[in-house]
Amino acid sequence: MEEKHLKYEEQYEEKYKAHWDKVYEDLSNELTDNFREEFLDMHPYDQSLFFIEQSKENRMRIYAYLSPDELAEIMINIELDNTPAYFKEMNPRLGAMVLSEMPADDAVDIFNEMDKEEVVSFLTIMDKEAAEEIKHLLHYEEKTAGSIMTTEFVAVYKSQTTEQAMQQLKEDAPDAETIYYLYVLDEDKRLVGVLSLRDLIVADEKTKLEEVMSEKIVAVSVAKDQEEIAQMFRDYDFLALPVVDFQNHLLGIITVDDILDVMEEEASEDFSKLAGISETDRPNDTALAAAKKRLPWLIILLFLGIFTASLIGQFEETLDQVAVLAIFIPLIAGMAGNTGTQALAVAVRGLSNGDYENQGKLRLVLREATTGLITGTVCGAVISVVIFFWKDDLFLGFIVGVSIMASLIVATLAGSLVPILMDRLKIDPAVASGPFITTINDIISILIYFGMATSFMSYLT
Ligand code: ATP
Ligand code: MG
Repeated sequence: MEEKHLKYEEQYEEKYKAHWDKVYEDLSNELTDNFREEFLDMHPYDQSLFFIEQSKENRMRIYAYLSPDELAEIMINIELDNTPAYFKEMNPRLGAMVLSEMPADDAVDIFNEMDKEEVVSFLTIMDKEAAEEIKHLLHYEEKTAGSIMTTEFVAVYKSQTTEQAMQQLKEDAPDAETIYYLYVLDEDKRLVGVLSLRDLIVADEKTKLEEVMSEKIVAVSVAKDQEEIAQMFRDYDFLALPVVDFQNHLLGIITVDDILDVMEEEASEDFSKLAGISETDRPNDTALAAAKKRLPWLIILLFLGIFTASLIGQFEETLDQVAVLAIFIPLIAGMAGNTGTQALAVAVRGLSNGDYENQGKLRLVLREATTGLITGTVCGAVISVVIFFWKDDLFLGFIVGVSIMASLIVATLAGSLVPILMDRLKIDPAVASGPFITTINDIISILIYFGMATSFMSYLT
């Protein structure tokens, strides 16, 4: 009776968990048929989640119980970094068959994660036709249209009628990556038009495609950079874009799901740069290689830090007389660093999305200045009150409060101005990395703090 009161979501989760446990039981007890039936009932993504949770023993069972195309479906859904390891576990012939069953572009992604020798050995035992296609795709430069496109598209000829096109679509559909757009070619196989499935369905059966197709095609060249293609997907809202060579021959298509991966990849690159980690810094580098890549940044920051320290040294006299000033240095510098990084992230994200024209940049800077004023005033007021009660010193509270306020305003402004300036100077704004902004803000905030403290020295106890 209890169960009646469960929410839909909870009921769903319960069922899901029960199903999962059952699949696990069947697999562990080697009940092949039951396992197959229940496992294949799950969504491919859930299948992959189940798969990666299994012990090696159970994984070996899965390789034995499923067909290559069923395994291909799982492998496509697994995090790319991990897939080569699973292919190493499989019998090479099975691995080759699984790779042959995948859409070519997914297989290429996996090959890009494998060693050269492995790739070659798989390609030699794979299905000839699939191997040819993959070799063809592997040839394209990384991060260009050629490397992310798939060659499984629906192409029709302009002289065909919509009825014939529908027939062809039926034949091509099982293998096509998307059936939503039909690309129309002329006799020389050049791309001359496009129509959506909806256009095809509503058109009269006897009309020729050239009469119903749209001739204003948006296409990308094979060499185009993936980041620019992501931008085009954002601008045009198509579910797929055709890829052509310089003579306008249709080579492949890029679908929106491939582009989502690109967007994620590009965003994480920008964030690595923001943190001052080189984008080539990868999790499976050796410690020495990783250290080598990070050291140049750290050495530069080290010198900037020494400069900051010597700056504090300039105020030694002030510090000697009022030692309590020192305890608020990390607080003020830290706050300036934090707000600077927040403003920086907003500005870099906007710039790399291409959100800002000149007008927009000015508006962003003005808004950041106002935001800095508000956050600065609030934080400054809070800290003055706290210090007044804690240290029982009105002027110390005043100095720290005003310093925080001024630092936050300057830091927020710097966080948005620096990347915009870099963008102007044609330096990738994401390189104006967080640590630099933080260090610059350290210096500015300390100058403000000690400048004020020195001027109001006589009032401090
Ligand atoms: P819906 O928007 O309801 O899903 P639709 O038929 O409007 O269906 P869209 O994806 O919005 O489909 O595409 C709009 C139009 O753009 C379609 O008529 C299609 O032929 C055309 N089209 C598709 N791809 C391209 C392209 N690469 N270049 C130019 N036009 C295209
Ligand atoms: Mg539409």
